[in-house]
Amino acid sequence: MHSADKKQNYMRSGIAAFVGAMLLIGMLFSHIYIANEYHHDCTGEECPICQCIAECEAFIEQISTGVILFIAIAAVIFAVSKTVQSFKGDFLSNTLVSFKVRLNN
Ligand SMILES: [Zn+2]
Repeated sequence: MHSADKKQNYMRSGIAAFVGAMLLIGMLFSHIYIANEYHHDCTGEECPICQCIAECEAFIEQISTGVILFIAIAAVIFAVSKTVQSFKGDFLSNTLVSFKVRLNN
């Protein structure tokens, strides 16, 4: 039971780290692209590079709000799981104590 919990925790943090790394890389490349193409030879309104820059900017903005949301959700999940864990611990020690008392009597 406990080793399975641990495994799940490892998997969860592994997935979180992977997603975080991918988002960071995506953000980094978007920044690099924008920086590189900022002074491009603009062809006007239908410029594909401008459209790409706009997409990159939207992507960065989405990730920024997404990361804030993710951190908020992760904090809530962490707090809830901590509460559940301490509740479980209390329950377990209480049952063990009452069991011991019963044995002593
Ligand atoms: Zn342009």
